[in-house]
Amino acid sequence: MKEGLKVTFLGTGTSQGIPILGSQHPVCLSSDSRDKRLRVSVLVQWDEFNYVIDCGPDFRQQLLKNPIDSLDGVLFTHEHADHTAGIDDIRPFFFRQGDIPIYAHERVVTALKRRFDYIFANENRYPGAPAVAINLVDKNSSFELEGLRVTPIEVLHNRLPVLGYRIQDFVYLTDVKRVEDAEIEKLRGCKVLVVNALRIEPHHSHFNLEEALEFAELIGAERTYFTHISHLLGFHEEVEKKLPENVFLAYDNLKISI
Ligand SMILES: [Zn+2]
Repeated sequence: MKEGLKVTFLGTGTSQGIPILGSQHPVCLSSDSRDKRLRVSVLVQWDEFNYVIDCGPDFRQQLLKNPIDSLDGVLFTHEHADHTAGIDDIRPFFFRQGDIPIYAHERVVTALKRRFDYIFANENRYPGAPAVAINLVDKNSSFELEGLRVTPIEVLHNRLPVLGYRIQDFVYLTDVKRVEDAEIEKLRGCKVLVVNALRIEPHHSHFNLEEALEFAELIGAERTYFTHISHLLGFHEEVEKKLPENVFLAYDNLKISI
């Protein structure tokens, strides 16, 4: 790797995005562009390589704003629609490159096969349907992407296991409510941590702000960015003012280097 990792936050919103359709909540009506949040995803780039983590319903819009010439793979955290519903829009990359590599837990692949059967079909394929090359990953198997080691980290989204990813000193976790001690060990020494902070009030399957702050302190990364944000967290500008100096709210199209 010549120049380090570049990470672009393609989306930083919770499952409905912000604004929520039809909502009159002040955060949904905010004119601050940082209060407009598409569904969560990041673009991770190094050398000439482009990977995304998750591929939600806003994938196409996100890449119109942050164009890439090629897509080297999609790493999935879990099967929920806000993280997977945009997979059909890998088509332009598939047409130019052929099968697009995906990296996901077997359970997630099973769910994707059910929902997007035409993408995975072996016979009678619809001309124009995209195809993927499946790479199964789990919490016990680190793997390599173009010379960089990637370590999957299992977190719990209520009772659903979700995979986060560590790529060198960058860690991306989303939809976390709990992390087992053995998985926390994998985060030691990371420089940048991304983790979800849904809202102020507690939630059954996501860290709220207080839990996310405690987790950020436990991990002690040089910089921590919160994502998967609901309108119920409040206005970006007001929330960010109250955070410790090395903790930030991510916002859509924010670019960082590691
Ligand atoms: Zn989610």
